[in-house]
Amino acid sequence: MRLVRARAIGWHGRGLLALTVLLAAGRVLAAGFIDTPQVNGVNAEILAARGDEAFERQLEIARQRGEAGCRKHCTMIARAVGAVLGAARRQSEFARSTGWRVAASSARGAEAYAFPGGQIVVSEGLIDSLALNEAELAFVLAHEVAHVLLRHEGQTLALADAMSLPRGVSRSIDDLYFQMGFDIGMLLRMAPLLQRAELEADGAALVLGAQAGYRPDEMAGFVRKLVAAEASVQALLATHPAGGERLREVERALPLARGVWRRFGRQRGDAPLR
Ligand SMILES: [Zn+2]
Repeated sequence: MRLVRARAIGWHGRGLLALTVLLAAGRVLAAGFIDTPQVNGVNAEILAARGDEAFERQLEIARQRGEAGCRKHCTMIARAVGAVLGAARRQSEFARSTGWRVAASSARGAEAYAFPGGQIVVSEGLIDSLALNEAELAFVLAHEVAHVLLRHEGQTLALADAMSLPRGVSRSIDDLYFQMGFDIGMLLRMAPLLQRAELEADGAALVLGAQAGYRPDEMAGFVRKLVAAEASVQALLATHPAGGERLREVERALPLARGVWRRFGRQRGDAPLR
């Protein structure tokens, strides 16, 4: 589950910094807040195509297991997906041209992850395991959308390429995935940046979700629940990013997200579930 186990790196939240300045100056933009950075050396189309293939494989596995599609939480999932993708498409031309696809599964395992082309998977097991409400689910979806908008997968691959030996050799995306699959030492060296990306996705998710109409304080409930659940298995999760750090970063981003919600989200928040 990407929300727990980082597999991406990130630059600093340029979009969020710009937003801070705009709000402080009393100016607002109806357009997006989340910039999509350029990633050199990684072909975005090939990466999106690989994501699509992996997504299709996951769908096929879910079908074979009889777990494709939602069973219990279809209404809530549909509402959260609609609202979050609506906000995502307001961010940038890149966001509008992304072929977003979200697949819900009835799998009992807790999972939520995104592929770089905008394909997202979320399980009802995640909703049940943490008893998520709609705002918390929206935060999960917005976190995955943020990974796509911030091109974290491409950045991870670019870094893996830079760290691979021999240098100066042209490697395909498939080569890099293969390398990352067995080179644990490389992944450990990349860990600080992988964890940084998770925090960055959390901050962006609060802003995206607020634009979609969800109260930031309710969305943050997801991280609080995650931290509480992790506390009971802390000894097993020593290699994971510290949940407490994640919660502190989310709480630091809350004032900004509340500002976005008051300006853009409140009028969308007319439905009873929000
Ligand atoms: Zn993540």
